[in-house]
Amino acid sequence: MSPVVIQSAYLVAAILFILGLRNLSSAKTAVTGNRQAAVGMLVAIVATLVDASVLSYGVILAGIVVGALAGSVLALRIEMTAMPQMVALLNGFGGAASALVASAEIFGAGHTGATLEGVVPFAIVISVLIGSITLTGSLVAFAKLQELIGGAAIKYSGQQFVNGILGLGMLSLAALVLMNTGNVNAFYGLVAISLVLGVALVIPIGGADMPVVISLLNSFSGIAACATGFVLDNSTLVVSGSLVGASGLILTQIMCVAMNRSIGNVIFGAFGAAVQTGAASGEVQDQGNVISYTAEDAAVIFSNAQSVIVVPGYGMAVAQAQHAVRDLTDTLTEQGIDVKFAIHPVAGRMPGHMNVLLAEADVPYDKLIEMDEINPLFPETDVALVLGANDVVNPSARDDKGSPIYGMPILNVDSAKHVFVIKRSMNPGFAGIQNPLFFKDNTMMIFGDAKKVVMSLAEAVRKY
Ligand code: NAP
Repeated sequence: MSPVVIQSAYLVAAILFILGLRNLSSAKTAVTGNRQAAVGMLVAIVATLVDASVLSYGVILAGIVVGALAGSVLALRIEMTAMPQMVALLNGFGGAASALVASAEIFGAGHTGATLEGVVPFAIVISVLIGSITLTGSLVAFAKLQELIGGAAIKYSGQQFVNGILGLGMLSLAALVLMNTGNVNAFYGLVAISLVLGVALVIPIGGADMPVVISLLNSFSGIAACATGFVLDNSTLVVSGSLVGASGLILTQIMCVAMNRSIGNVIFGAFGAAVQTGAASGEVQDQGNVISYTAEDAAVIFSNAQSVIVVPGYGMAVAQAQHAVRDLTDTLTEQGIDVKFAIHPVAGRMPGHMNVLLAEADVPYDKLIEMDEINPLFPETDVALVLGANDVVNPSARDDKGSPIYGMPILNVDSAKHVFVIKRSMNPGFAGIQNPLFFKDNTMMIFGDAKKVVMSLAEAVRKY
C-alpha cells in the first residue's frame, strides 16, 4: 500500500480521535463521540495491518480474537461501581504494551546490528520507563480498589528517601542505555527498577485517592504510547498518545481542584491516614439531635413542595438507585413539582459517575445542573433530597477552617427550606469526617438503602 494512502488513513484516524474527544465532552453527543473514536481506531488498525512490514497475520489474528474476547467479557460483566479498577487495569496493559513494543525495537536492533538513530533511543527509554511504572502502579491501584490488598496507605520511615534513590537509580540506568543501547544488563536493570518504582509510588497512597492516581496513570500510559509512536515512526500513535496524555492530566487537575487538593498532596499526603484522628475520625461526634423521618412522613412534605433538587452521591451508585430515582422524579413531575438534579464534579468515585448512572436511567440531560449553576437556586428550593451523598454536601468544607476538606467546593443544600438525607447510618463518607448537615434543624434523615427508601418514597407520594 502506498505510504501516501497509509499516512492519509492515519490523518483521518487522528481527526476522528479529536472529533470523538470533542463530542465526549457533552452527554448529548457522547455516544456519537465514542463511535467516532472507535471508527478512528478501526481505520488506524486497518492502515497498520495493510502496511508492508507485517510478518505474520496469524499471530495478529490470534491476538485480536483473544483481546476482543477478554475485553468484551470484562466490559459486559463489570459493575459501574467497579469501573475505576477496570480503567486501572486497561491503563496498566496500555503501559505494558508500549514498553514491550519499544523493548522489541531495542532487541531487534541488537539482533540485526542496525543502529538506532535520532530520537529513537530516547523514545525507547521513555516508553520503557513510563510504561513499566504505569504497569505496576496500575496493578497496585487495581488491587487496592478490588480489595485484593488493603486499601490503606502503606507507609514506612524513610519512604521518600527510598523512592528518591529508586528514581535516581532509574535515571542513571536510563543514561547508561542511552550511551550504549547494546548494554543489555543496563536495559534489564532499567525495566526492573521502573517496575519496582511503580509499586513504590502507589503503595503510600490511600485507596480513597486511587481515582486521581488512576487518572494520572492514564496520562502516563498516553505518554508511553506517544513515545512508542516516535520509536515506530507512527504518527497515529503519537497523536493518540498525546491526546490520552493531555486529557489524563487535565482530568487529574479537574479532580484535584474539585477536592481543593494539590496533586502533590494526593501523592504524598496520605489523605486516608491523616483523617483517622481527632475530630476528623469516623466516630459520631455529639453535634446535636438528629431528626429521623420515615419515607411515609417525608411524602407529606414532598407532596406539598413546588421544587425539589436531588443531590446524588456515591450511595446512589452503591444502591443502584438510579432507576428508582427516575421513577420518583416522574411521580413528582406528574404532580406539578419541578425536579432538578445537582451534579457535583467529584460526587461518586469517578468523574462523571452521577451523569453516567442518571443517563442509564434516562433522566433528561437538561435536568442535570452543574454545581455553580445550581447553588444559587437552593435558597428558593422547597426540598433538597440528598441521596447517598455526604462529603459533597458537608458545610464544614465551607465554614470550618480546621476541617480536612476545608476549601472543597460543595453543594449548599443546607440553604434549602427542607433537606432530606437518605443513607444507611451516621457513618462518614470518603473523607472519613462527620457531617454537621445531618444535625441541622431543617435536615431530616431517612435511614435505609437508597433504592429501597426512594421506592417507598415514590409509593407514598403516589398514595398521598
Ligand atoms: P461520600 O462522601 O463517599 O458518601 C457516600 C455516602 O453514601 C456514605 O456516607 C454512605 O453512608 C452512603 N451510602 C453508601 N451506600 C449506601 C446505600 N446503599 N444506600 C444509601 N446510602 C449509602 O460520597 P459523595 O458525597 O458522593 O462524595 C464523593 C467523595 O469521593 C468526595 O469526598 C470526593 O472527593 C471523593 N472522590 C471522588 C472522586 C470522583 O472522581 N468522583 C475521585 C476521588 C475521590 P452510609 O454508609 O451511612 O450509608
